[in-house]
Amino acid sequence: MPSEFSGKHVTVAGLGVSGVPAAKVLHGLGAHVTVVNDGADERARAQAAELEALGVTVRLGDGTASGSGSAAGLPEGTELIVTAPGWKPTKPLFTAAEQAGVPVWGDVELAWRLRGHGGRKAAPWLAVTGTNGKTTTVQMLASILAAAGLRTAAVGNIGVSLLDAVTGDTEYDVLAVELSSYQLHWAPSLRAHSAVVLNLAADHLDWHGSMEAYAADKGRVYEGNQVACVYNVTDRATEDLVRAADVEEGCRAVGFTLGTPGPSQLGVVEGLLVDRAFVEDRHKNAQELAEVSDVNPPAPHNIANALAAAALARAYGVPAAAVRDGLRAFTPDAHRIAHVADVDGVAYVDDSKATNTHAAEASLAAYEPIVWIAGGLAKGATFDELVAGAAKRLRGAVLIGADRALIREALARHAPEVPVVDLDRTDTGAMPQAVQEARRLAEPGDTVLLAPACASMDMFTNYNKRGDAFAEAVRELGA
Ligand code: ADP
Repeated sequence: MPSEFSGKHVTVAGLGVSGVPAAKVLHGLGAHVTVVNDGADERARAQAAELEALGVTVRLGDGTASGSGSAAGLPEGTELIVTAPGWKPTKPLFTAAEQAGVPVWGDVELAWRLRGHGGRKAAPWLAVTGTNGKTTTVQMLASILAAAGLRTAAVGNIGVSLLDAVTGDTEYDVLAVELSSYQLHWAPSLRAHSAVVLNLAADHLDWHGSMEAYAADKGRVYEGNQVACVYNVTDRATEDLVRAADVEEGCRAVGFTLGTPGPSQLGVVEGLLVDRAFVEDRHKNAQELAEVSDVNPPAPHNIANALAAAALARAYGVPAAAVRDGLRAFTPDAHRIAHVADVDGVAYVDDSKATNTHAAEASLAAYEPIVWIAGGLAKGATFDELVAGAAKRLRGAVLIGADRALIREALARHAPEVPVVDLDRTDTGAMPQAVQEARRLAEPGDTVLLAPACASMDMFTNYNKRGDAFAEAVRELGA
């Protein structure tokens, strides 16, 4: 079938999780696809072979991506670039594209444009972004929508890829979409039914260039919303982004709070999640949605995630009972404040997914007293605020990873009485040692909490592997 992509010269920038499916879809739509990729390792070569067998041109290690080498700049004849979301906007390829008036789309933009393609139903998107809590919230949302009998999936940065969801054979009524700040940066025409920015704290600033640029990219999620822009009442920056957005006539700003909700808000009253936004006469009425104990686990930040998910579901018209049923049916993904085991009266909790200080702050607020295992790659973060806020709940700290000195110094400044064990090694064997040191510091009733506040790549392939190493070391303690 002819499409707007037939005969078009499209450069796909970057192989990998988004590049390979994008290249396949575009090729299937009749585009002349060239994939450029800096690296040429074994995985890249296998992916290239798969695409070449279909008739896609692949250029491995030719320097287009980095701007070095003879092929630097825009590949000849390019009419559109579809980029992997992680590629920095400052790359010479994008500067060249801008100068030549060539549009640059990310995988999300491509998926958005392909909605309804080939006569499929174009399911609306309920979009979730924020510094922390995206995956959890999107999964809670999908669970609530499913409990309402809707055909849905958690897609985007997780689970099913967006491209598969919009081009595959399964029909959806509505999609729960997780979007990263990178993906939003490259998705200029995205228009969600409703969206939430869960929270906003400094993260990925090396990529975006500044806090303002990071916030602006997150704020794009509100552009063109039709029913509700959901914001965090305790995080003013999220409300400011709603105010700055251009939305459809009649679209409302709806807040969520752990306190008593005002009109047009969802919140908590006497152990109940309550809706004062999507009810008749919100000045007088409120609708009970669920009990706080229906949220798994009922840590404060997770209750906030549940309220945000509920707000989006309610914006889509889901009844209150489905919110309760969906929350009850939800189980969190691994490595997100996961209780691993109790050993000698001490609880061991894996929050390896706390890869930045904002996330670690939330999990440190959920326990007391804590023996804290922290450290890794700091990504430019500072730790004073985090440590000062948690100091009185700390029994001790065990530090691992490349940037542990930054945390040690913050502890010396703000919690000088807290015993600290500094493990001077970055091999994976550091984790069992860290767990043993934590056991030595802990007393019955304490929680040993892996909430590193840092990325894992100095010691592990990813945060999953870090969490697995922790859990294995804990199981060895109990053996
Ligand atoms: P994301 O997809 O945004 O990374 P996740 O749902 O995977 O979010 O949670 C990542 C980590 O962020 C969790 O392990 C927890 O430490 C923390 N977290 C989750 N929700 C929140 C929240 N609402 N506010 C702050 N931190 C949170």
